[in-house]
Amino acid sequence: MMKLTFYGVRGSISAPGKDSLKYGGNTPCVYIETKNDFHLILDSGSGIISLGDLLIKDHKPIYLLLSHNHWDHIQGFPFFRPAYQKDREINIITGLTEPSEPQAILNQLQGTYFPVNSDELLANINIVAATPMLDPIILGTVTILRHQLNHPSAGSAYLFKQNGNSFAYVTDNELQPPNHQFTTIEQWVDFIQDVDLLIHDSQYFPEDFPAKSGWGHSPWDQVIDLAIKANVDTLCLFSHDYRRSDKEIEQMLAIAQVKVKQLNASLKVFAARELCGFTVGEE
Ligand SMILES: [Zn+2]
Repeated sequence: MMKLTFYGVRGSISAPGKDSLKYGGNTPCVYIETKNDFHLILDSGSGIISLGDLLIKDHKPIYLLLSHNHWDHIQGFPFFRPAYQKDREINIITGLTEPSEPQAILNQLQGTYFPVNSDELLANINIVAATPMLDPIILGTVTILRHQLNHPSAGSAYLFKQNGNSFAYVTDNELQPPNHQFTTIEQWVDFIQDVDLLIHDSQYFPEDFPAKSGWGHSPWDQVIDLAIKANVDTLCLFSHDYRRSDKEIEQMLAIAQVKVKQLNASLKVFAARELCGFTVGEE
């Protein structure tokens, strides 16, 4: 059983205000409960702040996996209270970026950017830098595979497997980038084949192109095509544009579901929503 809870679902920058009350305004963070004796977190956007307020109740080790170092994926860390807990172990597995800058999440805690310096944090923080080999990571009962994102300065997508269940986290990712493509559609299909859940960047509408071509995010229609091709059971539309209102997210979801029906596919689709979740496998 892997129980996911979304703490941040927005791309680029947070989106507070009356138009984002339903889906939420925090930047990316997903919490994964696995019945292992550690906490597992994806990305450290502003959503990690309220998650941290819950995690300070214990001292279990934390594994934080970063997709990449763009600010919306690391900006919550200076406010993550477990980082200020003595005797807390925090292992940060960084994304495979170009250039490789595994210390980026800590480097924002210094000088002109933030009043606390990273060496003043009380937790025992280990940075585990991604290498181009991208060997599988094994954490307790969970096996994690990685693939490189199509995104400016790249990054890592993650595939989680446990007891025959699986889900993939693929953000920020442009499926058909105009320039260098680290991962082709065929490679994505192989990587995510038959997953129970695919969380994929769908920041844009098809009409946003070509204006947003090369920005490193995908339109929802290409994500639907990929999910069907890869025989995904359930697709989660993720990384909502910070200008996208709740109403527009609902419109995107509705037309995505119409497209699935028109294609006679059995794919289930939902839009990521803060503090809502999804359980992969039996509870
Ligand atoms: Zn990014």
